[in-house]
Amino acid sequence: MIKRRIKNMGEKIGFIGMGIMGVPMAKNILNKGYDLTVYNRTEEKCALLKEAGANICGYPSDLARDCDTVILMLTGPEAIDNVLGGSEGLLKGLAKGKCVINMSTVTPEYTEKINAEITITGADFIDSPVSGSKKPAEDAQLIILASGDKDVIESKENLFLAMGKKIVNCGEAGKGSAVKLANNMLLGIMMSGFAEAANLAESSGVSTETFLDVIFSGPLNNFLFQLKKDMFINEDFPPQFPFKHMEKDLRFAQKLADDTGAESHLGKLTASMFKNGLSRFAEEDVAAIKKFYK
Ligand code: NAP
Repeated sequence: MIKRRIKNMGEKIGFIGMGIMGVPMAKNILNKGYDLTVYNRTEEKCALLKEAGANICGYPSDLARDCDTVILMLTGPEAIDNVLGGSEGLLKGLAKGKCVINMSTVTPEYTEKINAEITITGADFIDSPVSGSKKPAEDAQLIILASGDKDVIESKENLFLAMGKKIVNCGEAGKGSAVKLANNMLLGIMMSGFAEAANLAESSGVSTETFLDVIFSGPLNNFLFQLKKDMFINEDFPPQFPFKHMEKDLRFAQKLADDTGAESHLGKLTASMFKNGLSRFAEEDVAAIKKFYK
């Protein structure tokens, strides 16, 4: 631990986005001994990191000037544009020798846009969304879907492994975002299938517990369903991976399917279900799709 702290002392990390994922990811970076500065639009949400020893920055531009590497973990394109642009935006403080890593889930098309905006300043850019939600983020067990320049990715290996257990190099910038959308389309389809099957069992007079016992005892048992078990039983869906983010990701996956010409039947159907449920379940967990069937 001491060895690692000394090794990481030189690199100054900036982290933007103190949401469900950002807080535990930033904490894990701090725990590995990095000099960390955080920024969040709503500054009060930086309090936990301040207590843990991070510096707080009032503007993204100052954070870019102070740090070598800046991580973005924000809702999506609108939030990222907001942080990058303007007179106090991140782009104003970037220069050669710095690196921006976007870990938020966005489309490959949007990744191309910010890659151009960032690299024109001389800074490097890595497209690196993550697989895993709140608990894996807390346990530093995320899967890092890195894409971009191979040498730059390799130079950030220690930083990535502060947050995750595995780095998958997906290829050129944008491919990480593409894999992430494919991953999350499958997640949305699986959650909907799980909810629909549970509802069929319940509508036939079978308890949720009995249904889950059967699923978890056979070949359909998996980590995702286990994570959502208590939510299904208690009919209570506190957000780990918010419903609104699933709706966004399914929408982005459909955009990617349109752009690439990929057939997407279940993805399209699932995206429309999440769109319909958005006004009622936006702030709940993705597993609240179960209520869609009630
Ligand atoms: P979250 O809890 O909703 O946090 C969103 C963050 O974005 C907050 O820091 C928020 O700031 C900021 N933000 C939103 N709109 C903004 C704007 N217009 N300008 C500036 N900042 C803005 O989200 P999360 O669950 O941590 O997810 C972050 C990203 O990771 C998303 O792209 C999501 O799809 C992806 N992801 C999430 C999970 C998960 O399980 N939660 C898993 C993998 C990937 P305020 O505090 O000021 O609102």
